[in-house]
Amino acid sequence: MDLYEYQGKQLFRRFGIPVSEGRLATSPEEARAAAVDLGGPVVVKAQVLTGGRGKAGGVKLADSPADAEQKAREILGLDIRGHLVRRLWIELASDIAKEYYLSVTFDRSEKKPLFMLTTEGGVEIEQVAAESPDALARLHVNVLENFQPYQGRRLIYGSGISDAGEQRQVLDIIGKLYACFTQSDAMLCEINPLIVTPDGTVKALDAKVTVDDGALFRHPDIAEMRDVAAADPFEAFAREKGVTYVKLDGSVGILGNGAGLAMSTVDVVVVAGGRPANFCDLGGGGDAEGVVDALEVITRDPDVRSIFFNIFGGITRCDEVARGILAALERMSIELPMVVRLDGTNAAEGRALLEGTPNLYVEPTMLDAARRAVELAA
Ligand code: GDP
Ligand code: MN
Repeated sequence: MDLYEYQGKQLFRRFGIPVSEGRLATSPEEARAAAVDLGGPVVVKAQVLTGGRGKAGGVKLADSPADAEQKAREILGLDIRGHLVRRLWIELASDIAKEYYLSVTFDRSEKKPLFMLTTEGGVEIEQVAAESPDALARLHVNVLENFQPYQGRRLIYGSGISDAGEQRQVLDIIGKLYACFTQSDAMLCEINPLIVTPDGTVKALDAKVTVDDGALFRHPDIAEMRDVAAADPFEAFAREKGVTYVKLDGSVGILGNGAGLAMSTVDVVVVAGGRPANFCDLGGGGDAEGVVDALEVITRDPDVRSIFFNIFGGITRCDEVARGILAALERMSIELPMVVRLDGTNAAEGRALLEGTPNLYVEPTMLDAARRAVELAA
């Protein structure tokens, strides 16, 4: 789950990472009131779950409450990379002398948390990594040893930060960011930019935090930060049902068992000349309950014209999935044509069970099934 900047900063504040004071606003009037309340020049910032807001015109300085109201009017309703701006974060504007970058995330190949620090902040980190890789200091944390200040110092020396006051503050922030990362079960904590003000104070001007969905049950306070209104309604319904689902823009509804197979199915539908309406992973099972849930999610989408059920039986047995499909069809009425490809363990038994079901087409291969599903969706 991705947090909005203001939520990330709320978390940072809890761990003692310095951030600017600010207020949330959802209207130009609230933005003005926030600026009055804060009592100084402010920055009006679009709250959307995507980066590059500055470049897209979603971050603007305002030197008076009236100006804040005006800037809010300009930013609210903007479309930033497909994200509609409905919330603003109004914070006391900072003077910037330097822009650094600091993050901690997982390096899956090393199986360790990875810190990155560079004095070339403000721009996208991918650009720094590509254009001046030497400027990017990296440090892996041994989770058994836990984070130690000497590691932080090594990271700071590597980045070339030489001012003693900055070093001391950055070291403190690194330790607190690690605490935030581990104690929140985060997968990413990124500060870009981490600024140094003209008087030498270091603080987080932006916050990008991703928390592991699988750990949200341990963090009800973070879980409730989720913005349900911003989520796709079909995806929200799927989440409720516990179905792994991503809405796409085509007309062939897709159901596969296992994320890899579901992704390949999306590809094969495109190869067959069609457009997938969604990605849906049934998971390892295939019992009636799971099939009903997945079908309920897929058939809710009015764009779906045909359903492609792609199952490869490994541990999951095809006859069991076939029984799941039949049970699901008994429990809910589905008008849409369904194409089923069953292969692997007990495929023949599974196909035999489905034989003769009206409006259901059993195809022997993935490509045949994709072609049929595309044809039926036309
Ligand atoms: P992003 O573009 O989505 O990463 O949004 P950021 O929060 O990083 O803001 C983008 C840029 O706006 C920053 O890199 C800063 O240069 C600028 N900015 C943000 N807040 C302030 C501020 O308080 N004062 C000044 N002078 N610039 C700011
Ligand atoms: Mn940023």
